Amino acid sequence: MKCFKCGSERLSVIDSRSDGDDAIRRRRVCQDCEFRFTTYEKIELTLPMVVKKDLRREVFDRDKLKSGILIACRKRPVSAEDIDQMIDRVENALYANFSKEVPSAEIGNIVMHELKKLDKVAYIRFVSVYREFSGINEFANELNELE
Ligand SMILES: [Zn+2]
Repeated sequence: MKCFKCGSERLSVIDSRSDGDDAIRRRRVCQDCEFRFTTYEKIELTLPMVVKKDLRREVFDRDKLKSGILIACRKRPVSAEDIDQMIDRVENALYANFSKEVPSAEIGNIVMHELKKLDKVAYIRFVSVYREFSGINEFANELNELE
């Protein structure tokens, strides 16, 4: 970065503060001409790439995840707000635990964990679609576990 007035690269930060959740405000001064100015740095959070079962990579798609969850929650007493907050928690878990890539199965596990807390029926629906049960016994075990 260069001074806007004289072009010098000798700049000092004299103050730095967080401006809301995702921006940092820095007060800078040029050591050569003493010109002062403020910069804002926006922190860009990038979600990890999703690694599919066949090893293809794709960008995390919140809308796609949401539509899957909406189907599971159809006619259940779950509000749109609940679902949005749940997806926020899923995204936060991805930011926190995976930097570059995350297997799609891991996302499924996080979603299942969240749905289980939200609505048992929606959970079972989601599980029956996203997890491949090896047989009816495994599905029955899952049901028993809920009781
Ligand atoms: Zn300057």
